[in-house]
Order: sequence, then C-alpha cells, then structure tokens
Amino acid sequence: MENEAVSKNFIEQIIDQDMKEGHCKKVVTRFPPEPNGYLHIGHAKSILLNYGLAKEYNGQFNMRFDDTNPTKEKEEFVDSIKQDVEWLGAERNGDVLFASGYFQQMYEAAVKLIRKGKAYVCDLSADQIREYRGTLTEPGKESPYRNRSVEENLELFENMKNGVYKDGEKVLRAKIDMASPNMNMRDPVIYRVAHISHHRTGDTWCIYPMYDFAHPIEDAIEGVSHSICTLEFEDHRPLYDWVVRELEYENPPKQIEFAKLYLNNVVTGKRYIKKLVEDKIVDGWDDPRLVSIAALRRRGFTPESIKMFVDLVGVTKSQGAVEYPMLEYCIREDLKLKVNRMMAVLDPVKLVIDNYPEGQTEYMEVPNNQENPELGTRKVPFTKELYIEREDFMEEPPKKYFRLFPGNEVRLMNAYFVTCTGCEKDSDGNVTVIHCTYDPETRGGNFTGRKVKGTIHWVSATEGVKTEVRLYENIVDEEKGVYNEEDGSINVNPNSLTVIKNCYVEPELAKAVPEDKFQFVRNGYFTADLKDSKPGSPVFNRIVSLKSSFKLPTN
Ligand code: ATP
Ligand code: MG
Repeated sequence: MENEAVSKNFIEQIIDQDMKEGHCKKVVTRFPPEPNGYLHIGHAKSILLNYGLAKEYNGQFNMRFDDTNPTKEKEEFVDSIKQDVEWLGAERNGDVLFASGYFQQMYEAAVKLIRKGKAYVCDLSADQIREYRGTLTEPGKESPYRNRSVEENLELFENMKNGVYKDGEKVLRAKIDMASPNMNMRDPVIYRVAHISHHRTGDTWCIYPMYDFAHPIEDAIEGVSHSICTLEFEDHRPLYDWVVRELEYENPPKQIEFAKLYLNNVVTGKRYIKKLVEDKIVDGWDDPRLVSIAALRRRGFTPESIKMFVDLVGVTKSQGAVEYPMLEYCIREDLKLKVNRMMAVLDPVKLVIDNYPEGQTEYMEVPNNQENPELGTRKVPFTKELYIEREDFMEEPPKKYFRLFPGNEVRLMNAYFVTCTGCEKDSDGNVTVIHCTYDPETRGGNFTGRKVKGTIHWVSATEGVKTEVRLYENIVDEEKGVYNEEDGSINVNPNSLTVIKNCYVEPELAKAVPEDKFQFVRNGYFTADLKDSKPGSPVFNRIVSLKSSFKLPTN
C-alpha cells in the first residue's frame, strides 16, 4: 500500500487528498478539444490521462467539444476527433457534449455577474482595452465605463445579445482588479459580439463567451471534479476560481495543470501540422509521417503502444521533451509477440538454384513467431527461382561478410543450405541473377551436420506476390532542427518518403487487410495501409525498423 502511494503521480495524490477530505465524492474528468484541427500525440496523453483517472477512481469521463469560437471550428474535425478518441479506447460516459450546448446557461451566468455588480459592458475598442491593461510592471487603468449601473449594464448586455451592436463595438468584462499583478485578472473580457454562424447553433447567438469564462462554467455544469489542463493555463487559474466562486457553484471543479508532451525533432503543434498539410508537404492530416492520431494509426501504431508510451512518459509539472525512439520502442514491444514474422524482399534480385527440380513447389512449414508458439505455423512455397535482398550477395565481399558470395554456403531461412556458384550481370555490371546449388539433406533449415554463418530470407519468384512498400524517415531534417531560424518555417527532410513498387512478399501476405500488422524478418514491422490497400493487393507501410538505440531508463 505504502509503495503504491509513492508511485502515484501528483494528480492522483491531489485526488486522493480531495477524496480523503471529503471535497470530492465522485471523480469526473473530461477531454475538451477545440474542433479546429486533428488530434495529435499530445492530445492522446491528455485523453488517456483523463480517461485513466476516471477509470481508476470509478468515476466518469466526459467527451466535450470546446466549441465556443465559431471562427475556426468545423464539423469535419468533430467527426475525426470522435473517431480518434474511440480508437484510443477512451470510452466516454454518456453522450458527446458540446460547450455550445450551454450557451443559454453561460448567458444567464453573465447576467448573474452583472446583477452582483461583478461585470460591466465596456465600449473601449480592443486596442484601447489593451492599452488600459497596463504591463507586468505597471498597473492597469480603469475603464471609464467600469462604474455603469446594474440596470444600464443589463440593458446594454441584452442589446448585445439582440444584435444591436456591430462586432467589437461593445464587450462584457468581469469587474475584478485593474491593479492585479496577474494580468488575467485585470477586468478580462468575458463576452464579445461576433455576427458569425456557429457550426451547431447557427445564427441563434451573435455574442460568444470567451474561453476563460466559458470553460469553468462548462466544467461546473457537468460536475467535473478535476479539470486537467496544460501548464499555459496556470496563470489563468485565479480567474477560473473567481468564475466558479462568483457564480456560487456548489461543488466547484478544481483546475490542475500538467506539462505538455513534446517530442524532440517532431512537429507536434496543431498549427504546424496544419501548415505541412496546407503547403502539401504531406498528403493530408493522416500522412503516416505525422504524429496526428490519425497518422499514427495509419503508420501502424496501436492504441496499446500509445498507452504504453504515455505511461512511460508519466505526468509531471516540468516541461521536457521526449525522444521519438521511445515511441518506436513501445510499438516494437507491443507487436513483438503478437504478430506473425513473414518473409518479404524489399530490394529483390533473383537467385536460381541450378540443381533444384524445374517446376517443383515444396511447402515449408514455418513457425509464425518463434517466440510465441501459440501463433502456430504456416506453409511457405519454395521453388527453383527465388528473390533475395540485393545486399545479401556480394561478388567480392569484405572480411566478416557471411552472406552469399561465390563459394560460400548460407542458410535460406526455414528452407535449405545453398552454396553460391556465381552470378550474371548486365552490360552496366549490375548483378541480374545469382546462381547456387542446394543440399537436399539440409531441408528445414535446422540441419546441424555443418555450420553456416549466414542466414538470409527469400521469397519464391514464381509464387511470391509483387507489392508496394513505403519506408519513412522523419519529415523534419534532424540536422537542422524543426524550425528554420530565419523565417520559422519547418526544415523538411527531402527523403522522408521512399516508395518501393517492386517488393516481393510471401503469397500469404497478399491476403492482408488494412491495418493487419506483421514483422517482415530483418526489415521491420509493417502494416497494411488503411487507405491505399486493395483486396488481394495490400500496400505496406513500415511502422518501425527492428533495430533500436533506445534503452529503457532503469531506476
Ligand atoms: P495545440 O497546442 O497542438 O494547438 P491545443 O492545446 O490548442 O493544441 P485543444 O484542442 O485546445 O488543443 O486541447 C485539448 C486538450 O488537449 C487540452 O486540455 C490541452 O491542454 C490538451 N493538450 C494539447 N496539446 C497537448 C500536449 N502537447 N500534451 C498534452 N496535452 C495537450
Ligand atoms: Mg487550443
């Protein structure tokens, strides 16, 4: 028990304390995305954190769209966000909620503040408001409209609602303290006039609440106990607390901030991902080189691997970037025992076994995953003509090269030992065909009569299936860093995508359906692309190679 308490993160410790002191009877959390873009790996952290806490404390997890700013929001994003959250396995309680569903209550809350003398309609322009606000070192100046009577404010606010004023002509401000050391408390604007249609409420409203006013109300209405957000809202917490206090909510929610997730040398911000999409540097929000959730899914990451990653990163208050190889580590760990290990040749060159019978096909029984016998076995066709990787043959090998070269014997994985007898070349000197002979005694590849140092994989040239494979590198030029120092643009790696059209894979792989995952021995983990795979002819994306420099920190 003692140890368990120690290993809890700081948010769990706060919740434990609140439960112990009776401030919180039921843990209610929420994920509140603004529908203005696709979700990314950082959001996954927030989703899994909020969902995980609700589950851990037998509470409730709400999914609520923070759609109070109609200028940037779109229904398209609502749909994609819902899908991503579901895919991650974060099951919400109840319906999908929308902040816009509370516009009437927010309006009434504003009226309540006016009645209490805690809010006023101000005629200053946006520029003037900024000027009057002061600076970090100087206090602000009070607006000349600050002391309007409650009656006048009620009337003007109603006029605002009824469309009497143009955009920017009047705003409603909280009456707090123009001399507060916290700039957010210097009579912040809480309602503005904006004659824009909203994606859900249409033209019902021409005034819209500001985030800092709306968010605590949304939380309070839903009975959220712990409103978890990222560090940039720390300075806004006094305002959050002011709103729920002045509106006299009975069990006010508590805001807790944690550090955003950043990945080194990876484009994470919504704004920057959007730029890559708009500049057509990638082919959409789900381009497998991005870290939007849709892109990670298409690349082949699993919800389990993302959860493992988020757990490894942990929840803290201190900002720090994480390395992408840690995410790669998680998907390797997740897939290691789960998926079949298949043979696929990405850079094929023909190997002919001269003493193997013409026209014969043997079926080799192969374990699907040597480390997990539960996955069973399959039959792989073996024929006189095969494809092997071009790099597995060298006419004049350096020392310590144990693969095919004239005179050398190697093991064809799960099949026979073969000895290289030579090769054919085209007029440019490129190797076109490699010749060898096999030893029928060595069938199955487990032959122990003599030793060979090299084992290479292969695919039957006559039974194998030609397939497209895509390999990826970071979209960012890692040597230059993410952002160009001069203009803030992204330093793009021109080699981030390699499309190989003539790979050969075992016939079994032609049956793969979108999102099926495999290890291609020696080449990495791959998934059948979600969008471009067709029945009988999948396209494979490399999720990650097999080698890793990443080591789990031990402590
Ligand atoms: P971005 O910074 O990429 O534009 P955002 O913060 O504007 O994202 P929202 O839709 O407003 O995106 O965020 C929804 C929730 O996700 C918020 O609670 C926010 O704090 C959280 N969130 C956003 N980015 C990250 C991140 N990198 N790490 C953890 N949580 C994040
Ligand atoms: Mg935002």
